[in-house]
Amino acid sequence: MEGARRRIGPIIRLLRKRYPRARTALAFGNPLEILVATILAAQCTDERVNRITPGLFRAYPTAEALARADREELEGIIRPAGFFRNKAKSIIGAARRIVDSYDGVVPDSMTELLTLPGVARKTANIVLAAGYGKAEGIAVDTHAGRLARRLGLSRENDPVKVERDLMALVAKKDWLDFNFLLVEHGRALCPSRKPKCPECFLRGLCPSAAAFHPELEAS
Ligand code: SF4
Repeated sequence: MEGARRRIGPIIRLLRKRYPRARTALAFGNPLEILVATILAAQCTDERVNRITPGLFRAYPTAEALARADREELEGIIRPAGFFRNKAKSIIGAARRIVDSYDGVVPDSMTELLTLPGVARKTANIVLAAGYGKAEGIAVDTHAGRLARRLGLSRENDPVKVERDLMALVAKKDWLDFNFLLVEHGRALCPSRKPKCPECFLRGLCPSAAAFHPELEAS
């Protein structure tokens, strides 16, 4: 984490310059849809989720409809997303809680979102940022966690601890889209296998560049 405080400002400036419209790649039209899409996106690509959700949202357009959903029917629709039994359980459980405790409206605070079954901080952060334009934390998924470690912004593996490190480093005004910036960079240049350090505009600020590409140390 050496120098992380000094590097974080330039890192964010360069990420923002390269990815000026960084936002979730999940298709959604309201907070309920981004909640459901985020639950489906666990261990699944955004592209695949985006192929499932139009039909899903047509069949179940409200929290009430999802709360009343036949479990097997819902499982059939979301099956291509993988882990479909658990995901169906989470979606129906969250929808029931939204109907019973929040008048059918997805709540807009971290504390309340964490009361929904199947919703942890990562999902809550995405719903708050994408659905309500609010930041109470920084969403840390697999990609954001990997980037945070490679960029020397955290040494932790546990997403909650990575988030704590990032919240201490990143200015609050940047919390809203920091996850989306990291995820875009992961897709573009820094995937889990074979990061493209020689082409990367962050290589001068990234302590991992020389580890992946030793020839960069001499350049
Ligand atoms: Fe990833 Fe390499 Fe860029 Fe660092 S320099 S962010 S490891 S691609």
